[in-house]
Amino acid sequence: MEEGAEEYRSLKIELTGFQKGKKMEIEVRELKERKAELLLSDTNPPMANALRRVLIADVPSLAIEDVEFHLGTIGAEEEDKEYESSAPIFDEILAHRLGMVPIPTDLELFEYRDECEECGGEGCPNCTIIYSLNKKGPCTVYSGDLIPVGENDLKPVDDLIPLTKLDENQALLLYATAEMATAKEHTKWQPTSGVAYKYYPEIDIDQEKCDESCQECVEACPIDILEEDDGELVVTDVEECKLCSACEEACETGAIEINGREDKFILTFESDGSLHTREVLKKGLEVLLEKFGNAVELSEDI
Ligand code: SF4
Ligand code: SF4
Ligand SMILES: [Zn+2]
Repeated sequence: MEEGAEEYRSLKIELTGFQKGKKMEIEVRELKERKAELLLSDTNPPMANALRRVLIADVPSLAIEDVEFHLGTIGAEEEDKEYESSAPIFDEILAHRLGMVPIPTDLELFEYRDECEECGGEGCPNCTIIYSLNKKGPCTVYSGDLIPVGENDLKPVDDLIPLTKLDENQALLLYATAEMATAKEHTKWQPTSGVAYKYYPEIDIDQEKCDESCQECVEACPIDILEEDDGELVVTDVEECKLCSACEEACETGAIEINGREDKFILTFESDGSLHTREVLKKGLEVLLEKFGNAVELSEDI
């Protein structure tokens, strides 16, 4: 069992919106801060795809939405010098780059700005984080230069994302406001990447038809998972199979057959660091169950 997976281990959910009575089983194999792997069984492609879609588009996170640039000159009293408030890239591009910086998100703490009861959408610590950025060239401006106003533990999760370079007399002074939304609005609010599943591979070898000494399939396999062992052709790690069928094509006797199962999948995803994969999965399942079904068996309360 990988780090972080113990809390979930396995759970079954019934998505009545897809197929009443069918209980998709989810085995959590890996749940690290930024990387997760799930084994989905007793399911079908629409249900696996529904989970993939909510992990992409329905889990909210924080991202920078408004950027206020200081215009004109920026003085530096200690140097008795004035800088031009400019950068080599357009403000719009810089604002876009700022929007893509992963911002740490606490789903228990933050509200959607337009639903915030505290401020009615005006912006308050419950629904927004304000960052300041004040840099003078020559230098490279990084995500770590964004300083949260008031909340030091809400610094961007990665310090070294380059945003722009500044030349000798250039400077940047800006205030950026982060708020919460989902990737349905813009991909900058997508906390996950590489959300994908593959059909669970099935490799059937008919030993009677197989002349293991020919080794054609062994040579054709790009990831070397076929080998001869004690006079038999064996598969060393079926889950690694890419379903490329190169072995099938190489075999002249039809002794090997490759199929992807339609009821079992391996789903993997990564987090950009704004949320732990545990939070992503928890929220994703919550949304999925709200939309399509009910939880029928959970190993632990989620
Ligand atoms: S399908 Fe491709 S990856 Fe899988 S065993 Fe055959 S050759 Fe190897
Ligand atoms: S190519 Fe066919 S006959 Fe040759 S070892 Fe592979 S499965 Fe057996
Ligand atoms: Zn608010």
